This record gives sequence, C-alpha cells and structure tokens, in this order.
Amino acid sequence: MLAELSPALIAEVELAAKLLTSKQHICILTGAGISAESGIPTFRDKQTGLWENYGVEDLATPEAFTRDPKLVWSWYQWRRQLVADKKPNPAHVALAQWQYHTQSSNQSLTLITQNVDDLHEQAGSMVTHLHGNLWHNRCSQCETACQGQSRASYHSEDTINFDDTLMTCPHCGGYIRPDIVWFGEALPVQAWQTAEDAAANCEVFLSIGTSSLVYPAAGLAQLAKQNGAKIIEINPNPTPNTIVDITLAEKAGVIMPLLIQKITAL
Ligand SMILES: [Zn+2]
Repeated sequence: MLAELSPALIAEVELAAKLLTSKQHICILTGAGISAESGIPTFRDKQTGLWENYGVEDLATPEAFTRDPKLVWSWYQWRRQLVADKKPNPAHVALAQWQYHTQSSNQSLTLITQNVDDLHEQAGSMVTHLHGNLWHNRCSQCETACQGQSRASYHSEDTINFDDTLMTCPHCGGYIRPDIVWFGEALPVQAWQTAEDAAANCEVFLSIGTSSLVYPAAGLAQLAKQNGAKIIEINPNPTPNTIVDITLAEKAGVIMPLLIQKITAL
C-alpha cells in the first residue's frame, strides 16, 4: 500500500499525524466519500433501474412523502436492501481503532457523520449522525420513534421484491417514515449542537470524504477555523479550498490506516 503513495503524499500524512498527535481536541466529520468506498452509492450518483426516472425532489423531501408516502417508503426500503450487506472499510476500522486508542490518552475525539448508514457503529465507533439513521423510523405526525424491520431482514439480493407496505403509528395513526433528514428539513437539534460544540472547541478539524465547501460541513469547518483550529481534508477529489491546511488527496481507506498507524506509533 505504501509503495503506491507518492513521497510527497507520505510526507503530508506524516505532517498530519504529528499535528493530530500534538493536539488534545479533535473533531472528525465524515461524508458520502467514506461510505462510497464501502460500495454505498451517493445521492449524486445517477439512479439506475427502478428509480432512474425519479429525482431527489420525488424521493427525499417532506413534500414527496406527503404526496406519495408509498413511493418514498419504497425507495427507503430499497436503499435499506442496498446497504444491508455493506461492510465497514479500512477507514471506518482505523477511526474506531483511533477512538479506542484515545480512551487511554488525554485526547478527545468527536466523530460526526453526514452518512445515514451505520458503518461507523459496525466498525466499533461512537458517532453522532447529523442526517439521521437509515435503520431508524419515526412517526411523520407525532415524531414518536418506531421500530422497523431488523437489519437482518433486508437482503440485497432481493432488490426487486422490496416491501412497500406502509406502517402506521400506534399512537396517532400517522404514517411511519424513515428517521432521516430530508432535503429542506432542519438538522436534529442535539446532533447539531454536539457537532457545533466539537467544531468550535477543537484544535484540529479532520474532514473525510466530504467537500469542505458544501453545507453543513462547510459551516463546521469554518467554525473550527475561526476558533483557531487547523483543518485537514482527506478526499481523493479535493475541492480547491483556502481554509484547508493539509490536503490528503487519496481514498480514506488508503490514508486512514496509514495515518492511524503513525499516530499510534508517535
Ligand atoms: Zn404518531
């Protein structure tokens, strides 16, 4: 793996490792890129097959759910099937190892994700979800949390015969929806507070697989920067961005194991 990386990139990884080791408060934000490396397509990827004629406005907005709850529910059931057999990649594993490692040090790591899958949890991390959790449901009317089918009941091989039966709330009869932040909806208050606090109080802000130019990630990185933090970005396609101090332009699954190996060795 090392041999594939340029000496310049390895030098940058070493610089990042030294910076991360020398500071106490670290805030990490992960985005679609880290899940894409586990085979989970991002919203920006073109929809194929069954869903190719639908856009985000048909499938992932509160208006879409009001208009056609069965369509939106079916789309999420299909996404659950798609994600059901996906596994954490070396970047998720490295982050979990780092979190474990810091339990016996004076470092504090706060891991925030924009992803709705649970690959961080599967790898063993504690994580705050900014955009909700694909495996959780709630009532669309009274907001009561509602348990859905277990993850094990979804199988990616049955992607055509998904379950599109709508569930209703036992308290108010409202339709059950996935507990996901849709386009046009506010982020969950508590998760956003955790993210803002971690960003404002961190000394290094590490952005993985997400553009530091797109909100809300951009807001968190800027908040960290304004409070004196250094910004590190891991992204194979980094966006030109003046607030990033160290750019590691490679897949997270390649960089993170190397970075954590260096951090834990220092
Ligand atoms: Zn209800």
